[in-house]
Amino acid sequence: MSRPAVAILGAGPAGLGAALRLSRRGVFDVAVFERGRSVGGNAGSFEVDGLRVDYGSHRLHPSCQPEILADIRTLLGADLLDRPRHGRIRLRGRWVHFPLQPLDLMRNLPVGFLAGVAGDALIKPLRLKAGDSFASVLERGLGRTICRDFYFPYAVKMWGLAPEEIDPVQAERRVSAGSLVKMARKILHAVPGFKPPGAGRFYYPRRGYGQISEAYFEAARRAGVEVHFGTTVTAVEWRDGRALAVRASSAEAELRLETQQVLSTISLPVLVRALDPPAPPVVLEAAGALRYRAMILIYLVLEADRFTEYDAHYFPELDIPITRLSEPKNYSLADAPGMTVLCAELPCRTADPVWSASDGELGQLVLGALERAAIPVRAPLRRVLTRRLEQAYPIYRRGWREPFDRIDEFLDSIDGLITFGRQGLFAHDNTHHALAMAYAAADCLDEQGEFDRRRWAAHRLEFQSHVVED
Ligand SMILES: Cc1cc2nc3c(=O)[nH]c(=O)nc-3n(C[C@H](O)[C@H](O)[C@H](O)COP(=O)(O)OP(=O)(O)OC[C@H]3O[C@@H](n4cnc5c(N)ncnc54)[C@H](O)[C@@H]3O)c2cc1C
Repeated sequence: MSRPAVAILGAGPAGLGAALRLSRRGVFDVAVFERGRSVGGNAGSFEVDGLRVDYGSHRLHPSCQPEILADIRTLLGADLLDRPRHGRIRLRGRWVHFPLQPLDLMRNLPVGFLAGVAGDALIKPLRLKAGDSFASVLERGLGRTICRDFYFPYAVKMWGLAPEEIDPVQAERRVSAGSLVKMARKILHAVPGFKPPGAGRFYYPRRGYGQISEAYFEAARRAGVEVHFGTTVTAVEWRDGRALAVRASSAEAELRLETQQVLSTISLPVLVRALDPPAPPVVLEAAGALRYRAMILIYLVLEADRFTEYDAHYFPELDIPITRLSEPKNYSLADAPGMTVLCAELPCRTADPVWSASDGELGQLVLGALERAAIPVRAPLRRVLTRRLEQAYPIYRRGWREPFDRIDEFLDSIDGLITFGRQGLFAHDNTHHALAMAYAAADCLDEQGEFDRRRWAAHRLEFQSHVVED
């Protein structure tokens, strides 16, 4: 009897997690299609002048599901570093440590800010019921001061929308300290004696975050999975409510693979548009309504051992266009004397003029921003390079759920095709969430290649409890 053929679309953590999990059972023929030349998607790494860097600040959070963490530990061995978090947030022109620490807050928090938060805590019982936007939910939970000084301007920069235009679900999924009580608990967790395991720490692979995906890829490949690089999925063929085949295109060839099951982790609108025959017009229209925020990553290569001691700087203020600056060397402890790289994150729309700005212009933009933030670059700048992510964050504009549900319902009617991962479920999820989805999807497939949709529906409900960590 022939082995069930499984096509996996995308070789980010979600696709590779499913590939490895399935390959370990030894009963499927698994093929992965990846449009890029390397693995990892947004969670990949690449080399700059000998130093491995990521697509923006990436860390593996200790809240990672134990089974997945155990797999990553086994795959990476001693290369998986356990590191303390050591970042800073710029607030009203001052720096506070991130994660928040009681003594540091007392020393560095602007007095006006502290008084504002205290006042907000006192009037909390009088606050109106939560409304129907990110702004109203957060303001009810955290009060005016924290929202106006941190979350609201940060949201405008991150998602390009006024906080009132953003769906309330963004507050639930994207803000782990959504109330003053939760925030107080997080601050208390910095105090020895109150510290739960993993608080204030993160895992990071010695060779960059992408080493996680590379290790999954190598293990899956050894177990017989075939990965087609530089191969863009162009169509998913379906007939009579069943997916039948995947078509993909590379510089060398056009491929067509008949499959029993398609596991898609590419972006949801792209998957919908790839359906052959086409999805009904209402579903295609719904795909057009889902929007992503893009991001330019601007790397400054400096001739200095180190820029600062901090892993990341966060900039909520609107006069500073970047949202975050990370220094990869402070994550990986790489030994690269005399040079370091900074990575600045600039969220934008692909229609914005900045999207087509030159590397030189973007380098100047970052240098100017750091000057304004009073952390000017003094070391010689060797060079600037950039990378562009077209789909960095899904945008939860109020009303996004309706088109999403319409697509979801339609895809649910096609057997042999499921979609998951950060792009595939239009979610803000962390890598460990994407891997949890991948493992769940693989476990829903039986040895004959039949997918247990009831079990998957239960997993989908679990995924709704994912809360993103930064
Ligand atoms: C700036 C930034 C910082 C982040 N920081 C963290 C962090 O600190 N910790 C954390 O856990 N997570 C973080 N994340 C999230 C993390 O990057 C994602 O959770 C992870 O990449 C999701 O993996 P995925 O496989 O679902 O999707 P992706 O990584 O997006 O992978 C999808 C893959 O599909 C491929 N693809 C797309 N279309 C096609 C096509 N038509 N044909 C073939 N292949 C295709 C892509 O090339 C890509 O390789 C961050 C994300 C961003 C943007």
